Order: sequence, then C-alpha cells, then structure tokens
Amino acid sequence: MTARVLVVDDIPANVKLLEARLLAEYFEVLTAEDGYKALDICNKTQVDVILLDVMMPGIDGFEVCETLKANARTAHIPVVMVTALDQPSDRVRGLKAGADDFLTKPVNDLQLISRVKSLVRLKMLSDELRMRADTARTIGMEDLLRLTENRLEEAGQILLVDGRASSQEKIIKTLKPIAEVTVFSDPQAALFEAAEHIYDLVIVNGNLDDYDPLRLCSQLRSVERTRFIPILLIASQNDEVVITRALDLGVNDYIVRPIDANELVARCLTQIRRKRYNDRLRRSVQHTIELAVTDGLTGLNNRRYLDGHLKVLFDRAVARHRALSLCLADVDRFKQVNDTYGHDAGDDVLREVANRIRSSIRGADLACRYGGEEFVVVMPDTDVGTARQVAERLREVIERKPFILRDGTQLTITASFGLATLGPDAVAPEHLLRQADRALYQAKNSGRNRVVTLAA
Ligand code: GH3
Ligand code: MG
Ligand code: MG
Repeated sequence: MTARVLVVDDIPANVKLLEARLLAEYFEVLTAEDGYKALDICNKTQVDVILLDVMMPGIDGFEVCETLKANARTAHIPVVMVTALDQPSDRVRGLKAGADDFLTKPVNDLQLISRVKSLVRLKMLSDELRMRADTARTIGMEDLLRLTENRLEEAGQILLVDGRASSQEKIIKTLKPIAEVTVFSDPQAALFEAAEHIYDLVIVNGNLDDYDPLRLCSQLRSVERTRFIPILLIASQNDEVVITRALDLGVNDYIVRPIDANELVARCLTQIRRKRYNDRLRRSVQHTIELAVTDGLTGLNNRRYLDGHLKVLFDRAVARHRALSLCLADVDRFKQVNDTYGHDAGDDVLREVANRIRSSIRGADLACRYGGEEFVVVMPDTDVGTARQVAERLREVIERKPFILRDGTQLTITASFGLATLGPDAVAPEHLLRQADRALYQAKNSGRNRVVTLAA
C-alpha cells in the first residue's frame, strides 16, 4: 500500500523519527514544522493521512485539525493526533476537533504503522466513492460539508461481543452517551445478529471463552451482509501478534486493556462517523446511477437507458430465437396543448400519459420516455400479433378517459403508434427503432390516433 503521509511537528527530531519509520514501510512522507505549513500543503497537494503534533507554536494541532475538518476539500483526510501528554482531556479535545485517531508519544511502532495503514485503507474507499459521486456532480459543496460534520445525528448502533458480564456492563455504561449497545456472549449468535440487523460497529472483546476472536472477525469480513461493518477489537496489552493479525484480517481498530473510557468513546465515534460517511456516499452513488437513467418529468427510464438496455434485450432475443417487439408512441397535436393551456399543463399531460402507459404494460416490458412527447415500449418475448394488442390497448387507455387539467379542464388526448418486430434480417437494435419510426410516420399521415405495423 503506497500512500502519502504528512508529518507535522515543531521539533525536527520527532519529525525525523516518524519519517524514518514510515519510509521503512514505503510510505511517501511530507513534513511540516508548523500548522500554517501543514494547512498549506493540504490545500495544495493530495495527502492521505496526517500525523499531527498537538503542541506547536503559532496555531496548535487542535486548531489545525478544526480548520482541515471545516473545509470540504480537506475534511476527508484522516488526522492522527500525536499527543505528548497522555491526558484524557487532550483526547476529548482532539475528538471534538474532529481527529480520527490518537497516538501517544513515545510512539509505538506497531501502533503507528497499523493505524496509518487502517486509515489509508478507509480513505481509499471513501476517495473512490467520492470520486464517483463527484463525477456525476450530485454532491454539492454543502452536502459534502454536511457529510463530514462531526456530530452524530442519532445514536450509533453497536453490537458488543463479550464473554464476561462485568466487562459488558462497564462498556455499555461507557458508551451510553453515544450509542445503543446490543450484547452477545455467543460469537455465532452475534454473527447472525450482525447479518440480520443494521449496526454501525461491532466490538469484539478478545476475552471469549474457548473461542478465537479472530475467527469471528474473519467471518464478519467474509459474509456479504457484514463486510463493511467496522470492527473494533479489545485486546491485551501484550497481544501484539493477535493485533497484527487482526488488522491484516481487516479489523479497523483496536484498544488494549485496561480500557480507558475516553479512548473507547473516541475510537467508537471515529468508526461510526466513517461508516456513516461511507454509507451516505454509497447511497449517493446509487442515487446518481438512478438519476442518470431516469427521466425527470415522468419517472420512466430515459433515452440513455433505452440505448443501453435495448441492445441487451435485442442480443438476448437473437441468441435465444425469441420474439421481440418495439412500440413507438407519439402524442397527437401535442403542440396545441402547450399553446392553448401552457407548458405546465403540457407537462402534466405527459406525466399522465406516462402513468397510463406504465400501468398498462407487463413488468417485463421496458417503458421509456424517448424524447419530448414520444415514448417507447420494448416487449420481450412478444410477437407482432400480441404487440398489436398491447399497442391498441395503450391507444385506447389514452383516448378513453379525458385528461383533467389543474383548472378542471377536461381534455381528450390521443396518440399514434408505430410497431416493429424482430425479423430474420434484423441486425441491430437501431433497425427496430427505424422500422417503428416509419410505421409511426404512416400512422400520423393516415389520420393519427391509430396503430400501424409495417411489413418488415
Ligand atoms: P403530431 O401529432 O404531428 O405529433 O403533432 P405534435 O404537435 O404533437 O408534434 P410536434 O413535434 O410539432 O410538437 C411536439 C411538441 O412537444 C413541441 C414541444 O414544445 C413539446 N414538448 C416537447 N417536450 C416537452 C416537454 O417536456 N414538456 C412540454 N410541456 N412540452 C414538450
Ligand atoms: Mg413528436
Ligand atoms: Mg406529437
């Protein structure tokens, strides 16, 4: 894993030390001796993780962190606070400033490398998601800022897997201000629970009787439904081998016994925040994909979707020697509706036409708004005779019931239909569309409000 780490410390010897350790793990290292330089570097270049000293002349680490987290461009860069004083109050302040993690000086090698690696891994995931969302431009600056807000809008849902009643109680009490904790002593039952309900974090206490906690961690990572849930391991101070293996398995973070209450809260909050951030990005990407293939006015699929999907249906029909029909519909004299009742009334009519089409076809059929007042219905496994019946039904469903405008006006709307069907000489989906278009032209020319099928 190669990533760029920025080390910020006003004491050159500290910078050198961290730099040497990171370089030994093949990280790329940038350095800054004060907060201003650090902010400058973050604004100008891409940084994957920041190791930030707390006490520095000028602006201190807390302020640097706050500034980074308040700026949409830099808010997603993970910040590890390096505190000289092992003071819980520092951790709480760091947490409030939006720090993602903490290291205490003198910095332990294993902790340093494992935390940096785990944060880099998380960042790469968010980067990927953010890039896709950005490309589609659905997330504005404001949304991004909202995404990175430190505050949790609702309590986190934590699943605690812990073999001892006394430690269960302590952990629940500690986490009460930030999360609802559900406890399981049996790891297998916990695995099912995690797969069936939505959790923001799973805490695995390594104190399970006769059970390897790493086995549970690895199962959580391999089950589809739990793959993305963050895992926090509670380990013994001298369990370095277990911790290293856990992090290799994809465990996101760990904490050693005796548990410092502030540290537990801080680490849980970090994981929950990141999970929510990534969930929102994932949803936004999903939404973007849906928007890209949906027509905004009618909610039908749009032409872009038709272009892609018609080819799939066409190839499938050809390969399986199955029928495929396509119907192109165009509202009659629609310009007059706009001219007489206004564009908004025209929009309402289009929406209603779309609804009537949607509710008159099978689930397997594909309805799209092809453009303006034109619609396409693609019907797999449908021969020309059946397609004619469908088109006739659509024609009737539009003509029969008047359209009611917002001012109460009742309008009779009709549409013309051109049908095409897959013939032996069909070589490409465009052929079907062209054929339907010629049929439609004829329907218009021969009086409108009718269905025409051309002999192929
Ligand atoms: P024909 O029977 O020959 O199809 O006549 P027509 O008036 O329906 O056909 P024409 O192509 O001349 O006009 C289509 C009109 O549809 C023109 C355009 O302004 C209008 N139109 C296209 N898209 C929209 C839309 O999204 N909303 C509204 N309100 N009107 C639209
Ligand atoms: Mg038209
Ligand atoms: Mg028209």
